[in-house]
This record gives sequence, structure tokens and C-alpha cells, in this order.
Amino acid sequence: MFKSQVQQTLHMPEKAGAVEYPLMEDFYTIQGEGAHTGRPAYFIRTAGCDVNCWWCDVKESWEEGAHPSESVENIVSRARQSGAEFAVITGGEPLLHDLDALTFQLKKAGLQTHIETSGSSPLSGYLDWITLSPKRFKEPLDEIFPCVDELKVVVLTSKDLEWAEKNAERCPENTQLLLQPEWEKEGAVELIIDYVKANPQWGISLQTHKFMGVR
Ligand code: SF4
Repeated sequence: MFKSQVQQTLHMPEKAGAVEYPLMEDFYTIQGEGAHTGRPAYFIRTAGCDVNCWWCDVKESWEEGAHPSESVENIVSRARQSGAEFAVITGGEPLLHDLDALTFQLKKAGLQTHIETSGSSPLSGYLDWITLSPKRFKEPLDEIFPCVDELKVVVLTSKDLEWAEKNAERCPENTQLLLQPEWEKEGAVELIIDYVKANPQWGISLQTHKFMGVR
């Protein structure tokens, strides 16, 4: 159902354009972190998250009911008009919602579909790139691991490095492995630099949008 099979098996969810999602915001920007850093992308931030990381920098996304619902038709229309080559569906936790309708219409409009998820809710959607950012607060479901393209683990302490390895063992061999320092945690960058030098299968992801001053 996911990735390469999508093009062959894509079938139209009933009235996909009319389906609505709780939406915190959507905007055209530069992907600031991970494997696609520096590429222009259309960000779609759904509302609702049940993972509750204490260091989350989008806590205002957690409460689904605090945000309006928006139709797929309107979201995709804005994404297409932006000229972006790909959309990044993020949150909140985007997999709290069935993403079939949204991703179907995005692909139909010619955009590639990327997702950033904790993997803690059932996988859905027609997805070209899956970034798993696993959280110890609510672990990923087994079903996501075979589909992961990029594993991006936020690191605050050495416990997170153990957590990163535990998840990496479950991902496909060609998964891009990235460690990302928590922005405000002193010592996290140094910890990662030493670790990556000793374990070169890992790379470093930085939140460059914070340096650049873009959201
Ligand atoms: S999963 Fe993401 S949105 Fe949810 S609390 Fe954690 S960092 Fe925030």
C-alpha cells in the first residue's frame, strides 16, 4: 500500500477532496532538518498529539479541538499553488488521522508526500518518504519499521543514543540514520559529535530553520 506500490494500486478514496483534517497551519518554507534539509517544501501541520514529549516546541498543536478543520481540497490547492515539489505532513502526530485522502490528492496534484511521525499510531496514506522520529514516551508500532526511509532521533542524553540504536536495529538496511540534538539541551551537540565519529553509520541532523530564522 505504501511507497512504490502506490502508483499501481492508488485508488480514489470516496470524495477525497471533501475530507477534512484538523489543521494547525500549512505554509511554504524550507525543510530545515533531516535528509531533505534545504529543500523548499509545503508543510502541513495537522492538529492533535497524544505523545506529549516534555521538550516539544509545538505544544500548541496537541489539542485537536483547538484548531479548525480544513478540507483536503483547500489544503491541496494551496500546496499546488506554492510550486513545492513535495509536501511534508507533520504535527502534532499526523498518524492520529487517516491520511489516505490527503496524500492521494497531493499525489494527484503532482506533489511527493513526506511524513514526519513518531510511528505510535497506525500507518496510513500514500507516502513517498517516511521519517520516523521515535519517542520513548509512546513507542512506535511494529508496522512502521519496514517502511522507514529516515530514522531521526532527538538526543538529549546518552539514554537517547541507546534508544536510537534500539530503533535502528528494526529499520531496513538502507535507512538514513540521523541524530538530532535537542536545541536547548546543553552538551547534546558534543555528545552527538563524539558518537557519530565513533559510529559513522549515523549522521547529524540540525534544526537549520532555527539558524535561518524561518519556521
Ligand atoms: S510527538 Fe512531536 S508533536 Fe507530539 S509531543 Fe512529541 S515532539 Fe511534540
